[in-house]
Order: sequence, then structure tokens, then C-alpha cells
Amino acid sequence: MSAEQCSWCGTAVEADDGFRAFEPAGERRAVFCRLEHVVPWAIQGAYWSPEPLSPVELGTVPEPEACAHCGEPLTEAHVLLVRHRGEHRIPDGFCGVDHLLAWAKAGGRYA
Ligand SMILES: [Zn+2]
Ligand SMILES: [Zn+2]
Repeated sequence: MSAEQCSWCGTAVEADDGFRAFEPAGERRAVFCRLEHVVPWAIQGAYWSPEPLSPVELGTVPEPEACAHCGEPLTEAHVLLVRHRGEHRIPDGFCGVDHLLAWAKAGGRYA
């Protein structure tokens, strides 16, 4: 099994570590070695890679219902961020990259 690379810094990210961001409506995703790397990635214009199926569609994680940043119900064009920690997959949903950025800047779920 080969490691993936962080979309921002290129560091190898193991399957049981790091963060994966998905934009299900655009069928694309990004990989991060750590939450802090979401911030420069989003500011520089969010470079995505193609990914036809999000983990929600695969049934790996439950679908978040509201934005983790502002609490608004998620729309079709939402962004999903999944933290990988060992065998655990911890999903958070966002209205868009801008709210993912604001949340990551603030330190995320564990701020
Ligand atoms: Zn990185
Ligand atoms: Zn929001």
C-alpha cells in the first residue's frame, strides 16, 4: 500500500493518518498531512485531484448535516473534511472552501 502525498507540501501521508478533503459535487479531493496545511492550500486557490466517490458515497463515514464552522445546513456544493486517525474516520462538513479555511485557521475541531 503506497502513501498519498499532501496536496500542499508533498509529504507522504499514510492511510491511517492526516486529513482528506472532498468536494462531492465536483468529484474531487485533496490530501493533507496536517490540518495547518489546509490554510495555505485554500488561500492559494485550492488545488484538487479527481476523485469520483467521496467516503460518504462509499459508506465509510456518515454524512454531516450542518457546517462545522457556521452551523448552516449543508447544500449540494458542500466540502467534506475527513480526519484519519488509526482506524477512525472523523468527518466534518462545510458550506465551501471558505468555511473550511476559517475553521482550519481557528484550529479545527480541537481548538
Ligand atoms: Zn502537508
Ligand atoms: Zn458554513
